[in-house]
Parts: sequence; C-alpha cells; structure tokens
Amino acid sequence: MFSWRKGSNGHGSLSGANGHGPNGGDGAAAGSLIDLRGIRKVYQTDAGPFVALHGIDLQVDAGEFVAVVGKSGSGKSTLLNMLTGIDHPSEGQVIVGRTEIGRLDQGRMAEWRGRQMGIVFQFFQLLPTLTLAENVMLPMDLCQVYDPGERRERALYRLEQVGIAGEADEFPASVSAGHQQRAAIARALANDPPILVADEPTGNLDSRTAEAVFGLFHTLVGEGKTILMVTHDAELAGRVPRTLTLADGRIVHETRPPQLDYLGIQEESLILAVSQDYETLREKL
Ligand code: ADP
Ligand code: MG
Repeated sequence: MFSWRKGSNGHGSLSGANGHGPNGGDGAAAGSLIDLRGIRKVYQTDAGPFVALHGIDLQVDAGEFVAVVGKSGSGKSTLLNMLTGIDHPSEGQVIVGRTEIGRLDQGRMAEWRGRQMGIVFQFFQLLPTLTLAENVMLPMDLCQVYDPGERRERALYRLEQVGIAGEADEFPASVSAGHQQRAAIARALANDPPILVADEPTGNLDSRTAEAVFGLFHTLVGEGKTILMVTHDAELAGRVPRTLTLADGRIVHETRPPQLDYLGIQEESLILAVSQDYETLREKL
C-alpha cells in the first residue's frame, strides 16, 4: 500500500497559504486562499439584463469550511461558478492562491481547475459507462498528474477514503445514490486539490446518507481541505463553522465561528468542537 502524502501533487504552496484561523484576519485578503473582489454577474435574458450577483466580496482562508445558503434563485450556484471558473463574472476579480483566474485562457483554466478544485454536484454527474474506479481515474488521466501505473491504486485509495472501495468495479447505476455521491467526492479528490466546491451535495440524498456525506466533508476539512458547500439544509449549515446567506445576489448575513481564544483553540480543534467531538478535542488541547 503506498503512503499518501499531503500536497503530493506539488501544489502544497496553496494549502496553508497563511496561518490565519477562521477568526484571524481582518478580512482584507492578502493571505486568503480565495479572494472574490467586487463580483458582479449580469445575465442577458429575453426580458433584458438580469443582475444575479451585485458586487460580492468574499475571502476564504485555507482550511475553512464555509456553507452558502439562501433561497432558490438567490445566486448560490452563480457564485460557485465564478469561483470555479465555470463561468466568468461581468465585473470583478476571482483570485485563488496567486492565480487570477480571469487571466487564464480556456486550456490553462481547465488544467488549473483540474488540479486546484474538486467539484461535487447535486446529481453526482458520474459518467455512466465508466466504473466507479474509472470515474475517479478520469481527472488523473485528463490532467496527467500521476504516472499511469499509479492511477488505479490512487483511485482505490480515494474510494477507500469515502468508504466504497468494495464497489470500485461497479458501474454508477448499480450502486445507491449515496454511494454515487461518495464516488463523486472521491473523483473530486482524485488530484488532491486543496479546494472542494460542492453545490447542494446532499440535495438528492436521504437524511442519513446526507449525514454521512457531511461527516466526510468534516473529515476532509480536518485533513486540511478548504470546502465551500451550497446547501438548502439549514440544519447542516448550522453545523458548519462559517455560513453565508445570499438573497437576490447579495450576502445578507454571515455567521463566523465563535471566538474561542480562551481555549487557545486551533482551527482543526474548532471543527472538532463544532462537531461536538469533545473526546478528540480534549486530547488535542
Ligand atoms: P441558486 O443556485 O441560488 O438557486 P442561481 O445562481 O442558479 O441561484 O441563479 C440566480 C439567478 O440567476 C436566478 O434568478 C436564475 O434564474 C438566474 N440565472 C441563472 N443562470 C442564468 C442564465 N444562464 N441566464 C439567465 N439567468 C440565469
Ligand atoms: Mg443552485
């Protein structure tokens, strides 16, 4: 079994881009992993221009877990699409790590996204003609990140990490919805990206399966990933350290993690505390 090294794709410089905890920073972004500045998005529609985002400023530090909530149509998916470069803002800048993604041409954008971001969708979007393992190998093949001989083993590791290695050679249609979403998360992790972006990842799952997927996200944040998750599930969002509420294309509310300086608490421990894993927390303090 090979050992898994964090940052093994050579992009360790992005994760840990700064030492700020979630309460750390003054919001001005010098060290933020994700920095959205004045993002405005106007869609041209038959009825005329429609402003979906009205100048969003948002900074996210490495290692944060951020939930984005808001009614249907409030701009959540549009915001994520700006961040991933799937779509472009009409105005404003998206800077991830040291890369201003609006400056990348289409080819470099695809490669950049393939290495820096794992994306998880509500309806999984697995390719039906590929097995789960092949679905997970696909981003490795597309970005040529690992030796071809290593890719299957790495895919199996990712499937094991999400608890479905036993179904590696099944096709998506023959496994449950929950396991399809786990496979999609394994695929998102294929190239070991520092950032995971998820648009309603539990929206098509029953509550027990949603809980398992959510637990997996917490584990990944504990391992150093930065996660932005859009969700309709207020209960889940309430258990994420930082929550942004969008309404009509604006951030209208934001909750930050409680100040726990009195414990000398680190970000990782804060997540344990939020998830009420007090036993592990006690060992860490
Ligand atoms: P959410 O994900 O919060 O449900 P979206 O970001 O998908 O919201 O959409 C925000 C608003 O922008 C909605 O009113 C939606 O109808 C509109 N919108 C989204 N995509 C397009 C598009 N390609 N063309 C025109 N309007 C769009
Ligand atoms: Mg949406």
